[in-house]
Amino acid sequence: MNRVVMKFGGSSVATIEKMKAVAARVIRRHESGESVVVVVSAMGKTTNQLLELAAQASRNPSKREIDLLLSTGEQVSVSLLTLIFNDLGYPAIGLTGQQAGIKTIGLHTKNKIDDIDPTKILKHLDDGKIVVVAGFQGINEEGDITTLGRGGSDTTAVALAAKLSCNAEIYTDVSGIYGVDPRLYPQASQLAAITYEEMKEMAFLGAKVMEPRSIEIGHRFNVNILVASAHTDEPGTWIKEHVPMEHKSITGISVSENVILVSLHHLPPKAKVIADLFVKLAQNEINVDIISQNMTPDGTMDVAFTASMDDMATVHAVLDSIQLTHPQSQIVIDPDIVKVSVVGSGMRTQSGVAAKLFELFSQNDIDFKLVTTSEISISYTMDKSLKTKAVALIAGTFNL
Ligand code: ASP
Ligand code: MG
Repeated sequence: MNRVVMKFGGSSVATIEKMKAVAARVIRRHESGESVVVVVSAMGKTTNQLLELAAQASRNPSKREIDLLLSTGEQVSVSLLTLIFNDLGYPAIGLTGQQAGIKTIGLHTKNKIDDIDPTKILKHLDDGKIVVVAGFQGINEEGDITTLGRGGSDTTAVALAAKLSCNAEIYTDVSGIYGVDPRLYPQASQLAAITYEEMKEMAFLGAKVMEPRSIEIGHRFNVNILVASAHTDEPGTWIKEHVPMEHKSITGISVSENVILVSLHHLPPKAKVIADLFVKLAQNEINVDIISQNMTPDGTMDVAFTASMDDMATVHAVLDSIQLTHPQSQIVIDPDIVKVSVVGSGMRTQSGVAAKLFELFSQNDIDFKLVTTSEISISYTMDKSLKTKAVALIAGTFNL
């Protein structure tokens, strides 16, 4: 029989009314003969509220107790939704993470799914029941309740689908995945499909649609994932291994504003100077992204790199020490920049994407500062003021 895992997030189960709408959607699938496992998050903002209570109770709450506390949020959703199914006359059973066989490892509040024993779920499905499972939680080797980190219900859903060899359908407030943020480019069209790779690249580059770990699991176990609206019957976006051959060379654009550009001028032209700089940055746990280095005609060296805005203070401190060592150097930190990245698996086989973009930028006076490429992406660092123009140009040219 056809199985499916359907996951509903916190806002889709925020009230009993909304849960009834979820139930109706699930029942249609159940009636059409599918074996349905439903994964739910905690109602609305419950998880945040529980965390606030914990903060009132203790200045330094133990993570084990936090897990115990947070896991109740999902259990409330599970039991209420199951009651709704039963009330409507449908056989259903609610399961905690532990009852669903979800075994986890790691640190409390940040556990990872180690394995799932699906015996119980399979038995209930065989009995014709709708199985409702608490997302975001499991049980560790000590028998303690654990949670998977914020947004972890997506991970539960995809991991269950992997174990049950079926698709995972993630129902949310958005109707699917867009190649470009519609707030930046209102004409943006929704993607019918995107590869795991592209999705990971987009998530990494700043787009927040799903918990990135769930995409990783989907990729590893080849689970087709549907992201679709919880409120309408629009088709949604499939995340999978392969998308049609006619796939565009560029699938999406992601924009990260949380970036600073650091430029160092007039450094002595020595490899050791660069090594010292990046070792210092690494020792301070600063993640450096794009790096460029070049020798100038006056016999000195320029180095530039991007880092996260969150690390601004630490970057400042490191650079102050570099300035002391090299008094003649000139150091500039520019926070008014963005990183615009174009992503597409098609780039692997189609050449000329970079050329087309360079041409586009030169014709339209978009002066970028740094460029970097990966196998399936090209990122440009540019002034914040150019963001909207650049995105609209790329999206228009590549039909996104
Ligand atoms: N309720 C948890 C959270 O708010 C897990 C989830 O919603 O996926 O992070
Ligand atoms: Mg969520």
